[in-house]
Amino acid sequence: MITVEADHKFTKWREAARGLVLQGTLPDEIFWNEGGGSGDLFASANVAVKSGAAGSISANAEYIALARKAILHSDPARHALLYRLLWRMQSVRGLMRDTADPDVRRLALLAREVRRDIHKMRAFVRFNPVRDPDGAERYLAWFEPAHHIVEDNAKFFIERFANMHWSILTPDVSLHWDGAALQTGPGGERPADGRAGDAGDPFEALWLRYYSSIFNPARLKVKAMTKEMPKKYWHNMPEAALIPGLIAGAQGREAAMVERGAAAPDMPVVASLGEIAAAIQSCRACPIGCNGTRAVAGEGQQDASLMIVGEQPGDQEEIAGRPFVGPAGQVLNANLQAAGIDRDQVWMTNAVKHFKHQPEIRRGSKIRLHATPNAGEIDHCRWWLDSERRIIKPPVILALGASAGRAILGRTPSINKERGAPIALGDGATLWITAHPSYLLRIPAEKRAEEEARFLADLRMVAEDSG
Ligand code: URA
Repeated sequence: MITVEADHKFTKWREAARGLVLQGTLPDEIFWNEGGGSGDLFASANVAVKSGAAGSISANAEYIALARKAILHSDPARHALLYRLLWRMQSVRGLMRDTADPDVRRLALLAREVRRDIHKMRAFVRFNPVRDPDGAERYLAWFEPAHHIVEDNAKFFIERFANMHWSILTPDVSLHWDGAALQTGPGGERPADGRAGDAGDPFEALWLRYYSSIFNPARLKVKAMTKEMPKKYWHNMPEAALIPGLIAGAQGREAAMVERGAAAPDMPVVASLGEIAAAIQSCRACPIGCNGTRAVAGEGQQDASLMIVGEQPGDQEEIAGRPFVGPAGQVLNANLQAAGIDRDQVWMTNAVKHFKHQPEIRRGSKIRLHATPNAGEIDHCRWWLDSERRIIKPPVILALGASAGRAILGRTPSINKERGAPIALGDGATLWITAHPSYLLRIPAEKRAEEEARFLADLRMVAEDSG
């Protein structure tokens, strides 16, 4: 019997397995030892596995893809299963296509369970703000995965929360992101109240108020909800404590909503731009938020005399976590500069905080194609834009395109009819409307110079009004 140390690292396992196949080791001759603790027991029988041994073995792409996931499963028998399949694959052609084969079926099941756990972590991690010893703000979360998926999931959280400092603690391992580098550390202990961070902190209070107010009784499907949000995860999620009450009160709330004719329920009062930036990450008031993409907050000067409102973040904005950094942003920047508006002095934001998109395959790769937010989605997100306006109080606002216009006016304006003239708003501010810069990128080249000149002329009026 050969004892081979193994864990959930696929590359390490593959290297060992390859050597074992090449040296002709039968599946039954291997004891896969996880955790290293009992290795000595078999030490006398151990033989070295020749890593980097010459020769080739075959393993098809489907097997590799499933094996990469299955090795993250907590089943202690998974290494033996993976090896048995790899061994058999050397002599049985098309083994992976035999869906009645018990090993093939088991591999698919393990991979599926791991994928599900990965999805659960993405959906149910909840951050609470705490202070680092140096005073910096950090967002802390506690999560108990069923499988070894935490490191595999790190990229998702880095992309989603690139600009925040955060830590995710789990029983076996912890992840720490400082805005630039990821560190893994030892596992943590489950916080006494089931959450990391201070249970009584303002963010959690905000989240609780926020969750109960966005809770849409019309969409309540208790069975589906408990299937998607198994009780086992509830203790990590502050909002879960509200669920029983919300379910109980749902009928009355639904009736009240119907009576009010309200699409948007009451939303919580946020006191700072930082609170908005944090709260929009968990906003699920409309289906765009429910896609789980990262929300993009506004940026710029808190005392800006000009607020510029776009439609929604695009692909590049969502990745960077900043508004107007992609192609439309470049057109905007060039024209702002030409009009004498210093982008660093304005407040730049969007009507809708999440990226609405649909997948499309172009030249063999999957891209995220912009999709226009509908009126209901813009109206739901108005809460956040109104909060920004209340805090910043910009005397002049520039809306880029019809979606931004709707977010300010509460109706969809006609750009052609309403551009080039100031519109007085109820709070004393002045609104200007112009085309969205992405329009300039879409129109035929021969029309572009003329349209860009109109765009620039509009910006010059705004510069004069806000300067
Ligand atoms: N388009 C927008 O409306 N906003 C952005 O942030 C980027 C592109």
